[in-house]
This record gives sequence, structure tokens and C-alpha cells, in this order.
Amino acid sequence: MSHLGTLEAGSRHDLHVAVSPDAPNEDALGNETDGAFGYAHSYETSSRYDGPGVRVVLFVSGCLLRCTYCHNPDTWHLKDGTYISAQQVLDRLAGFAPALRALDGGLTISGGEPLVQFAFTKRILAGAKSLGLHTAIETSGYLGDRVDETCLSALDLVLLDIKSSNPDTYRAVTGRDLNPTLRFAERLASIGKPVWVRFTLVPGFTDDPANVEGIAKFVAPMKNVEWVEVQPFHQLGAFKWKAMKLDYKNANTSTPTPDLLARVIDQFRAAGCRVR
Ligand code: SF4
Repeated sequence: MSHLGTLEAGSRHDLHVAVSPDAPNEDALGNETDGAFGYAHSYETSSRYDGPGVRVVLFVSGCLLRCTYCHNPDTWHLKDGTYISAQQVLDRLAGFAPALRALDGGLTISGGEPLVQFAFTKRILAGAKSLGLHTAIETSGYLGDRVDETCLSALDLVLLDIKSSNPDTYRAVTGRDLNPTLRFAERLASIGKPVWVRFTLVPGFTDDPANVEGIAKFVAPMKNVEWVEVQPFHQLGAFKWKAMKLDYKNANTSTPTPDLLARVIDQFRAAGCRVR
């Protein structure tokens, strides 16, 4: 059993490794816990980027994907996170709640993948709602089947990362199957749950026009998708791959040129998406 730690405010770009060496493997985790405890990487207190308004963003540990361009590989394993209680998170959040409400913000749970520790995520979302906060998760959707009605009722917005529309490309860049993400997107569309789709533009990996076109055509008819956000690849996480002695395939990948970014944004716009 891991020992309860203290979660300090920090940045998603801080490196955290081997904080809880006896944590379970993330792929062995199901829905069996009550979510009272979990593993977290860090939290930020004033993000203007991960949902509307000013937000607290909690980065939880555990992810089953292995994106070649991931900028936070130190969130993949529970053992690299700090063991904390949901109550600790909510007590801390309560201190920020008046300011978050005044600034039209709220709480976003990101990662890692918040649906790996689904019960923990669900408990924190419910607690945030009882503080009167807008709530969001950022997810790949790979574990979207885990999301139940109770969780959906405590969730105002889903930031859904669609990394590719091509199953082969998706598997090449994430190591996993594309279908669960598309299925989750369709389910969210069917109930009208607000979604911001996020697409990471990685030159040489996800920039193929047909790949972009596929996502744009899939998303465009979905009335619940408020925005498509094109996120340019960057190298801010490269030092983590090096420090963790991982094989980094994007060491020589450059950030997208303005022309490439404009072409991709135009593709989404031409398909009828609201894009930024
Ligand atoms: S889904 Fe996110 S956290 Fe997981 S490997 Fe991909 S980029 Fe990293």
C-alpha cells in the first residue's frame, strides 16, 4: 500500500518519477475501487487553456496509450504519481472555488488519462459539482465505455483528443485501437454533451491531408462539438523521455510551420467545424 502524500501545485512540465513504487499497474485497474484514493502527477491553479474561464487542472496518473509525441510520459504509470485522497483534492479545490466561479472557470481533470482511475475521477467530479464548479475532463476516449450516467451528469465538458481518423495511423502513434474513441465521441454526440475536440498536429505523423479530412468529416455533423482545437506538436516534453531513458521517436520532428497549421485549420473549417 502506498503512503498518503501531499500534492503540491506545480506544472505539467515538472518531472515526477518513482514517487509511489508499490502502486498497482495501471492496466490492472478496473472500476472496483470506490475512488476515495488515487495517484496524481500534479495540479495547476490558473490555466486558461483547458476549458472555459480560469481553471484548476488536476493531472492524474495512468495512461494505456503510448503516444510517440507524448509530452508527459511521467504520467503513464501510477507508480510515478503521488498517492492522495479525493478529499485532499476537494479540500484544496474548495479554497479556489470562489475565485474559479467568479472567473467563469472550474476544474479540469487531465493526465495521463483520467478514465484509468475512473472511480477516483468520478468522485472528484461529483465533489467539484457540489462546490458549484464547471467540470471537464481531457481524455483520449479509449476507456470511454467506463463512463456511466452518474459520471456524465457531473461532467459539463469533454476535451476529447482524436489523434487520427485512420486506424493504422492511430495504432502507429498511440499503440492502441481507434474504435473506442470514435464510439465515445458518437455517444457524447447522441446525448448532446458539450465537447471540444483536440487534434495534435505532428509533422510526418498526423499531418496527412486524408487523416485530417477524416477527423473533420467525422466531427463536422456533431452539434455538440463546440470547438476543434489544433494543437501544434512541441518539444517541451523531450527532456522527460531522455530522463526516463525512453526511446523518443520525435527527437527530430519540428514544430508545424505556419503554412502547415493554416492548411490544417482550413481543412477543418472547410468541412464545417468551428476551429481554433
Ligand atoms: S493519451 Fe495523452 S498522456 Fe497518454 S500517451 Fe497519449 S499524449 Fe501521453
